[in-house]
Amino acid sequence: MEKKQPDKKVIFKSVKEMPPMPVSLYDVSYNKTGTWRNVRPVINYGKCTYCMICWKFCPEAAITLEPVVIKGKEKPKPVINYDYCKGCGICWTECPVDAIETQEEGK
Ligand code: SF4
Ligand code: SF4
Repeated sequence: MEKKQPDKKVIFKSVKEMPPMPVSLYDVSYNKTGTWRNVRPVINYGKCTYCMICWKFCPEAAITLEPVVIKGKEKPKPVINYDYCKGCGICWTECPVDAIETQEEGK
């Protein structure tokens, strides 16, 4: 019986030749997933406890931590980069104190 040959492997000479999703594994600047978003998360810093859970869970690494001093102590303030936030909802689902509010995009 004739053996089926696997499909010919595509070899890219540079990451710039690759389609958008695989490219994002190498350089996220090619894949600004913020264009996918229809709901925007907005952090209510009045409720935020600086626990960093949203930062840890974000699948796009769209949340960065900026040091801020509150009552004499340095805390990691989460800041959302809307170029990469795709509005997946993980951060506002995981936030233990419901400090991430949502807004419909374009409203
Ligand atoms: S998970 Fe909620 S409380 Fe924790 S850092 Fe993020 S926004 Fe703040
Ligand atoms: S909505 Fe999703 S992609 Fe956007 S900041 Fe939250 S976890 Fe990250």
